[in-house]
Amino acid sequence: KRLVVLGAGESGVGTAILGKKEGYQVFVSDKGKITDHYKKVLRNFEIEWEEEKHTEDKILNADVVMKSPGIPDKVLLIKKLNGLGIPVISEIEFASQFTSATIVGITGSNGKTTTTMLTHHLVSHGGLDVNMGGNIGDSFAKQVAENDAEYYVLELSSFQLDGIKTFAPHIAVLTNITPDHLDRYDHKFENYIASKFRIVMNQNENDYFIYDSDDEVITKYLTEHPIRSKLLPFSLKEKVENGAYLEEDNIKIIIDNNELTMPTKDLALKGNHNVKNAMAAATVSQLLKIRKTTIRECLENFHGVEHRLENVLKINNVQYVNDSKATNVNATFYALDAMKSSTVWIVGGVDKGNDYTELYPLVNEKVKAIICLGVDNSKIINAFGNCVDNIIETQSMKDAVNIAYKIAERNENVLLSPACASFDLFKNYEDRGRQFKEAVREL
Ligand code: ADP
Repeated sequence: KRLVVLGAGESGVGTAILGKKEGYQVFVSDKGKITDHYKKVLRNFEIEWEEEKHTEDKILNADVVMKSPGIPDKVLLIKKLNGLGIPVISEIEFASQFTSATIVGITGSNGKTTTTMLTHHLVSHGGLDVNMGGNIGDSFAKQVAENDAEYYVLELSSFQLDGIKTFAPHIAVLTNITPDHLDRYDHKFENYIASKFRIVMNQNENDYFIYDSDDEVITKYLTEHPIRSKLLPFSLKEKVENGAYLEEDNIKIIIDNNELTMPTKDLALKGNHNVKNAMAAATVSQLLKIRKTTIRECLENFHGVEHRLENVLKINNVQYVNDSKATNVNATFYALDAMKSSTVWIVGGVDKGNDYTELYPLVNEKVKAIICLGVDNSKIINAFGNCVDNIIETQSMKDAVNIAYKIAERNENVLLSPACASFDLFKNYEDRGRQFKEAVREL
């Protein structure tokens, strides 16, 4: 059988390795340049490849095509493949066909990486043979080929879910749904919502669906589209029968009368959004029968992921916080929500059609100055001109941090939470976060 892999990044190369191992004749094609690292890997596995082109003669005779998540469905080549009836699938679909592992799949607009890493932390400390993959680290396919495990915790983007046909996680987690990536979904929010819900489409009655029941987009969809799996909601607002909720300042997780309690003040990760992420991860762990003491200990000692509400340094009693991964308004909402005192807020970058209104109450309450860091700051200045007197513009991270240093006073915060993409001034959000941390350290 002939497997064609489109896109030679982590998921494409992983799929090629797995395909080769499973006896497929494999061809990898990338319209851009392939990195030296991946070329070497492909050579080592004696896999045929091409770069900077797609040779249709070699692609349109495939039995199955794996498409990397970055390639939109709309490109002509994909349309041709669809027209010929050749299955076009994602790495997740392909790899899942060659493992019998129990899979935890985690998706959502925000919180995927944090919840995935936290869940993996809990489950691995619980003693299970578990790998982590998807959007993080080594691809799922490569791990299935080279060091398969009994369990996987997978971070799944909507693009990866778009390419599934039979994939069914035993436990699915949906952290939340807010508008994102709409350019890939015909600018229709309902298409993006449907894409996220593909995570449950192949589940059966013995599988579980863990989700935020405070999220009205999710609950509305569920009333309109009932699903087969067992529902385990988590909520900060109301008691739930089975699932996770707050009782005073304690997290309670109840699954079939089995109860776990944990004070929220003991969570290492701060902020309401992280209470939710902790609820989701702990619910998964309880389903997988991890000991309650292990769950509690792990929630107490997991200090988070770089660039996500990351405490950098305290200087003159001012806390500097790097939340560079906040590339949309909802993520920034939770960052501001998590600030316990007055804050100098560094915001801006490439606007993704942001609507800032949901931030007004928090900005009024907590933000003493705004530092706009971007090529075009006009939208932010217009949006917050009435909330904050002190709005300053800059196009360099160093300046932004130096200005913030002068404004912030003892017991206050300096928060980088851009609510925007990073590509105007930085390579990516990691570069932006690292520059922030470097500038802070230089203070
Ligand atoms: P993702 O992988 O979905 O992008 P991350 O865990 O990398 O999610 O977090 C992205 C941003 O969203 C960070 O700024 C983080 O602080 C924020 N965030 C994390 N969890 C949540 C959540 N449950 N709800 C809203 N925002 C969140």
